[in-house]
Parts: sequence; structure tokens; C-alpha cells
Amino acid sequence: MNGVSADMNLRNAALQRSISRRRFLWDVARTTAGASVCSFKALGQTLRAPSPAKKLIVVTFGGGARDEETFAPEGQRFIPRMLGELIPCATFFTQVVNRGILGHYVANATLATGCYESFDNFAPTSPRNPTLFEYYRRDSAHRAEDVWVIAPSNGFDRIGASNHPGYGTSFGATMVLPKQLLGRFATGSSESFDHLLRDSYEDTSRVSASDNHATSLQLLADQLKLPVSQFLAYASSISSPDELSLYIAQHLMQHLAPNLLWITLHDIDVAHAGAYSLYTDAILRTDRICAELWKSIQLNPEYKNKTNMFVMPDFGRDGDFEPGGNGFQHHRTGDPLSRTTWMLALGPEIHENISVDRMVESIDLVPTLAAILGCNASFAAGKPLAEVL
Ligand SMILES: [Zn+2]
Repeated sequence: MNGVSADMNLRNAALQRSISRRRFLWDVARTTAGASVCSFKALGQTLRAPSPAKKLIVVTFGGGARDEETFAPEGQRFIPRMLGELIPCATFFTQVVNRGILGHYVANATLATGCYESFDNFAPTSPRNPTLFEYYRRDSAHRAEDVWVIAPSNGFDRIGASNHPGYGTSFGATMVLPKQLLGRFATGSSESFDHLLRDSYEDTSRVSASDNHATSLQLLADQLKLPVSQFLAYASSISSPDELSLYIAQHLMQHLAPNLLWITLHDIDVAHAGAYSLYTDAILRTDRICAELWKSIQLNPEYKNKTNMFVMPDFGRDGDFEPGGNGFQHHRTGDPLSRTTWMLALGPEIHENISVDRMVESIDLVPTLAAILGCNASFAAGKPLAEVL
């Protein structure tokens, strides 16, 4: 297939996704008509609060899900809170296309820079282009403590800062990898945390204590004001690493209230193991975590009425009928379905219950967020999304 027909194929597939997602959501809205589900309304707030949004929480997924297990009628049981609590309060972009490399670290680096990053997904390298975190800190003179990234695995540990001249680590985010903290503090524990310490779903390596830098992790825990015994007790009660990330996110919001918080969830990518029930359990869990984060914003005076939240998978998964693909399990074909995802935007100045059907791209996220934060994403290749500005 030549480049022109491949692009046409992608555009057609993305458009079909958009049409079907809009229809699915319209059906859901019709069956829940009359229910006041938006948090602003539920809390007696006007949608357009007078004070501008000053804080931002971005939730990305390292591993998306197909419509069959999310927006389609047979999949809606796996995303009840997104359908019932988030989408009615959000501007929903129904076709977001990722034209880059479909590996989770490099794709999330693309989301964080607004440029299609092209490095080896498994290489220990920083993004080539400045990240949103660097733009924000450099242009607004914010401290590292104001910008945090919660990353799901060792492979993501350089996503907080680029190696771009003029930017770099001195303007980067403060990184926290919850698995590393758990690996550090669980050393010597009689309890097994193996199910929380697997580094990624595409290999079998484990985050071990010996891989960690004990001193820097202790400093990080001190900076986080992390109650270690509570953290370990919580870890012993949960089933997945993303729940660990939720704990850290809520703890950060409560105790340090950073202006910019970026969280990458990864549980859905358990699909690579090939077990359908683990994959759908992870979708349900991710749905709950997103709703809990939104609820945490509404319940925290530091965030309530001044925070925007964006939610976006890095890309999709293979279609069932693509030669070389096998449906939900992987994202190896680069077919149009694996490239087409969606995005939710919520906040006091963002329209509720709006669907945007035009095609946008993954690289449009950073210019949009930069416009909201008042910084200049001068190297980003995408375009600001006027619908949420
Ligand atoms: Zn994956």
C-alpha cells in the first residue's frame, strides 16, 4: 500500500470510529436523560466558574482498549463511570490519530512533547523535543516540586525531561515510579509484592530492590512525605500497579498539591498476556481510577474549580481482522484501528457533554495544554484544539 492510500485508509477508519463512538454515546445519553451526573452540577456549581483553571492533571494510558470493550454496547459494562460520570461533564474527541511509533514509552513521550518522537521504544533515552513540563517550568519559573510525573515502569523514567538544548533536566518534572518505591521499602518484608513489581507486560522482568537507588528513593519518599508503613499496608491490599499510582497521585494532591500532575496508567496492557478477563478487569479498574481522580479534584479545595483534567490512551489495539493482528492482545500491525483513539477534556472552563468529531492528532495535546497553562510550546508540531480553549 502506498503512502497516500495508507493515509486514506487511516482517515476512513478514524472517521468510522468517530461515527460509531458518537452513536454509542448518543444511545447512552438517551437512556440516562434527565440524570444530573456532572460533578459541577452535583455539587451545585456553575459550569463556568469565574476563576480560571490554574492546575492540570493529565491521565494517559500506556495501552488502550478497543471499542468492543469500551464504547460499543457490548463493552459499556466495562466503563460505567466514564460513561456515567466523566463523559457527561466533558468535551469528548472521538477520533484522535497517532501517526507515530506504537510502543508505549515512545508514544507517551510523543504525548508529552507534541512531536512524533522516533527513538527506540526500549532504549534508555530522553525525548528529543522539550516536554510540556519543561515549557511550563521554563516559561513560568515554576519549581520542580510544582510538576510531577507518575510513571508506570522503569522504561518511562526519562520521560520527565528532554535532552533538547536550552531545556533538559533543570526544567524537568519530578519523577516518581511507584514500583521503585515499593521495591525499595518492601525489601525484607515477608509479604510478596511480585504481582505489583512486574516492570511491563511485554517482558517478564521485575523491578527489584537491587535495581533501585536506595538513597535517592529515600529522599523522594521524604519529599513526598510518604507514610511508608501505610503505603506498604495499602500495597498489600491491592491487585494492580495502577492502584499504587492512584495512591501516590492522591497523596501528592493532598500533601503537595502540584500545579501539573501527569499520570500514565498501564494495567490495560496486561492484554499482551492474552487473557481476556484480565484485560477487561483492567479496563474496569482504569475506569474507576479515572473517576476517582476526578472525584479527588472535586473534593480538594486546592484543585476544585481550578483544575482541568485530560484523559487519553496513547493509541488503540489491533483489529480482529487485520492480517498479522489478533484483536485485543497486541498493537503490532500499525493498522488504522490501533492508531485511532479518543480524548476526554474536563474542567471549569471546558464545555460539558460535547462531542468533537473532526480528526485530531496525538501531538495536538501539548500545544493545547500549553495554551491552557500560558506557556509557549515552541517546538511542538501539533495544533492547539480550539474546542477546549
Ligand atoms: Zn502494549
